[in-house]
Amino acid sequence: MARNYPLKKYRNIGIIAHIDAGKTTVSERILFYTGISHKIGEVHEGAAIMDWMEQERERGITITSAATTCLWTPIREIMRASSDEEKIKAREQFEHRINIIDTPGHVDFTVEVERSLRVLDGGVTVFDGVAGVEPQSETVWHQADKYAVPRICFINKMDRMGANFQKSFDSIIERLTPNAIPVQLPIGAEEHFSGVVDLLTQQAFAFAGEHGETLNPIAIPADMVADVAAQRAHLIERIVEQDEVLMEKYLGGTEPSLEELRAVLRAATIANALVPVFCGSALKNKGVQLMLDGVIDYLPSPLDITDSKPIKGTDPATGVDIIRQPDDAEPLTAMAFKVATDPFVGNLTYFRVYSGVIKKGSYVLNATKDIQERIGRIVRMHANHREDVDEMFAGDLGAIVGLKNTTTGDTLCDPAQPIILEKITFPEPVISLRIEPKTKNDQEKLGLALKRLADEDPTFRVTGNADTGETIIWGMGELHLEILVDRMKREFNVEANVGRPQVSYKETITKEGEAEGKYIRQSGGRGQYGHVRIRLKSLERGKGFVFVNQIKGGVIPQEFISAVEKGIKEALTKGVIAGYLLTDLEVILYDGSYHEVDSSEAAFKIAASMALQDGARASGPVLLEPIMKVQVIAPQEYLGDVTGDVSSKRGRIEELSDRSTMKVIDAMVPLSEMFGYATKLRSMTQGRGSFTMEFNHYEEVPKNIELQIVEGKK
Ligand code: GDP
Repeated sequence: MARNYPLKKYRNIGIIAHIDAGKTTVSERILFYTGISHKIGEVHEGAAIMDWMEQERERGITITSAATTCLWTPIREIMRASSDEEKIKAREQFEHRINIIDTPGHVDFTVEVERSLRVLDGGVTVFDGVAGVEPQSETVWHQADKYAVPRICFINKMDRMGANFQKSFDSIIERLTPNAIPVQLPIGAEEHFSGVVDLLTQQAFAFAGEHGETLNPIAIPADMVADVAAQRAHLIERIVEQDEVLMEKYLGGTEPSLEELRAVLRAATIANALVPVFCGSALKNKGVQLMLDGVIDYLPSPLDITDSKPIKGTDPATGVDIIRQPDDAEPLTAMAFKVATDPFVGNLTYFRVYSGVIKKGSYVLNATKDIQERIGRIVRMHANHREDVDEMFAGDLGAIVGLKNTTTGDTLCDPAQPIILEKITFPEPVISLRIEPKTKNDQEKLGLALKRLADEDPTFRVTGNADTGETIIWGMGELHLEILVDRMKREFNVEANVGRPQVSYKETITKEGEAEGKYIRQSGGRGQYGHVRIRLKSLERGKGFVFVNQIKGGVIPQEFISAVEKGIKEALTKGVIAGYLLTDLEVILYDGSYHEVDSSEAAFKIAASMALQDGARASGPVLLEPIMKVQVIAPQEYLGDVTGDVSSKRGRIEELSDRSTMKVIDAMVPLSEMFGYATKLRSMTQGRGSFTMEFNHYEEVPKNIELQIVEGKK
């Protein structure tokens, strides 16, 4: 079977926005209009569409899957067709596959946002037409910048009271990028928002039809003629600046053709040199279809980004770099980017194929884990159904049902051509809490629930404390754990007592030290003999643990050396100050001895772990705490209170800046001081302040605070 749509007719996009800007509504409308568009030309067209829409409405289309597919033929091509036959022809010629990758809007889930950005090629950034750019829009925008995701903007909610296209656009220019440029102007605003003018074609449309699906061509309203001309001239200048040939033509007095302008604007958008801006009201069914034309016109297909974002990986055996092309003829290279549980089919592993073809019934290599997985069933997720397919091609996104050992970020590939794609990196969880099932029955359910949640979310971890039998869960922030605990109750019916969130402290050493560990028992039969000498050196922050073997002349035989390393690793999990993980140190095994008969792996493990504890005590141990990068945005009049409060939290203010009428405070603050900050900031600023925070680094805890932590007062 061959592919239905050539790669150049693929758009893998995300709808990028913070909570409340209208991401869900925009996504739903996209699925709605693409659904209608794809039905065009079927028997009894009109009636069929109406029926379909009714059914959809009853079902309530929602976008819940990590990657949903839909098909779109640019509305202008459909409008140009004057009969059903012509519409079908237009569809055959111009229909594109759009895969929509879900991006979470909450900034607490930075990692979720980042992993979805990893698999998409372009984005539609949605703004609230009243508020314009909000603090959290900036966070999601900068995340997309990090992956150089080409974007178009959609200024939504143009129907709301106070909606203002120009003001929202200005806030994009001022706070996000000077490269933004309107390609449309709204006709009217608030309750009078009734259409748009396309600046390139100078066509005006009024929205009509029960669901805004009809675009009626109208004359440009008289009071807009001058503005349209000026904005259009500006747009054309910005486009021709991007291309020498067009520039020459333009300076020579000829206006480039529409096709030329679109082509250059497309290239500039893909290169992040320009960002086309659209507008509409998703809720009132206005402007979404033209924005979808923009997705086709300006956002990249997988073929367009091979230079800026090549498919790069390494050969797991040799470490040699490998580049693959987005081509079905290349060896299979795919990435699992989300694991989810579906109530009907069970475990779903979402993946993107970067090159080659993945086939049902075949075996693929999970190169990250070095295991083979059988592809039992492949599904393509549509708005309202799952489609079973036999194969998927380069550029496709879908889900595999029932994979057991593949987790988020793993590379799936042709077993004969192993490759590991650049991994999505996940920050370490910095907050933990204790969780205790209420009954025996809950205990069993808890285990299952935690496993499922951890499979889905790589930033969520579960550890057990063997001594106390407690279960501890770890996450990225208070809210992250709160949501997970809530899901445990709602989705898995687990009743549990939950402790207070705790900061994940660590321990390290500050100077060089030495220690000896001996575990020697000689009582009756076979004895025990393990003996090691080690040296500890502190390492730079974030380096973790390094083991160096300097044993010479076989004073400890090779077979016991890995037992020594194991013993040390175990001892590292229980630091000497307050039992936290010991990190950022090098342990050198330089001497020791053994006994022909009595030595065993177990004896060396114990000797090593004793040596490590003594060594750590002798090397100036200190406690480390996570420091968060915090950004607070508040009106000027609260600046004093906010900065005073940050200082009282042992915070360091790094920068104070202005953002239109607001003050922006960038600071580094210990996580332990940030509990409950959302409530505090709200009351301090009468609800007008907002903040974001993310983990930055670990730092030594001041001695007086360390004492409080050790004594359990903090
Ligand atoms: P999300 O949190 O970004 O997914 O946003 P939603 O799509 O859930 O929208 C948030 C709120 O804004 C909801 O109450 C929507 O009904 C409303 N909303 C979304 N789009 C529009 C719009 O175009 N106009 C108006 N007036 N409200 C909208």
